Amino acid sequence: MLKGKTAVITGASRGIGKAIALKFATQKANVAIIYCGNKEKADEVLKEALSFGVNAKAYKCNVADLSECGDTIKQIIADFGGIDILVNNAGITRDKLMLQMDESDFSDVIDTNLKGAFNMIKCCYKEFMKKRYGKIINISSVAGLSGNAGQTNYSASKSGIIGLSKSVAKELAGRNVCCNAIAPGFVETDMTEKFKEHEEILNTIPLKRMGKPEEVANLAAFLADDISDYITGEVIRIDGGLAM
Ligand code: NDP
Repeated sequence: MLKGKTAVITGASRGIGKAIALKFATQKANVAIIYCGNKEKADEVLKEALSFGVNAKAYKCNVADLSECGDTIKQIIADFGGIDILVNNAGITRDKLMLQMDESDFSDVIDTNLKGAFNMIKCCYKEFMKKRYGKIINISSVAGLSGNAGQTNYSASKSGIIGLSKSVAKELAGRNVCCNAIAPGFVETDMTEKFKEHEEILNTIPLKRMGKPEEVANLAAFLADDISDYITGEVIRIDGGLAM
């Protein structure tokens, strides 16, 4: 159980981040729901989280912007009294073969997916050091393990998340802070809407189906909980066997 803990979840207005925020709320964690532009969706998640009797609030923050992250984290600490768990889930794709990919397609994805996680960890770093406690969970992808044609930008950002997670795990281990990465395969969200009915994609997955956001949320809840205290610097695939 996550009772009494405060969790910050980026990209919590939709998809995997929403499922993580609601799973944590059902386990009685207070949740700071971070979104980028979709206030309506974030407010729906907020309403549902509050129905579990926890403290919850939604914050608009572009994770690619370090100063916005700094202001948001300061506000969350003021509102909740501290932070115990950080989930870096916000992510985007700009899929194209490299010949068609322009510089902004590459930098936008790196800035959101990789620098966004760096920014949020940097802004929570002192809080975790002071507390001598923290759980950081970064959402990578099987694309970061195996690469993917048409996703040079995205794969690079998700491989970067793995290096970032392991380095943070080593830097903060002495302060009792664990940092791990989750590498999902195909999960049913807006991001993968276009792949949903593709038989040839489902056939590449040994379990022959896409994952559900709630399944990723269960793994995040395990990594956020004290029962996983001896796991740090790990990358856990949740992909129906896709990248084994
Ligand atoms: P969705 O596209 O469904 O949701 C993306 C979320 O990220 C939204 O909440 C969005 O906010 C938020 N977001 C986007 N850009 C920013 C930004 N600059 N600052 C803050 N928030 C931002 O994505 P998924 O749920 O599918 O993916 C979640 C994570 O899981 C991503 O990191 C993705 O790469 C990873 N992943 C997903 C897989 C999948 O199959 N779905 C597979 C492997 C990894 P808003 O609603 O306000 O726009």
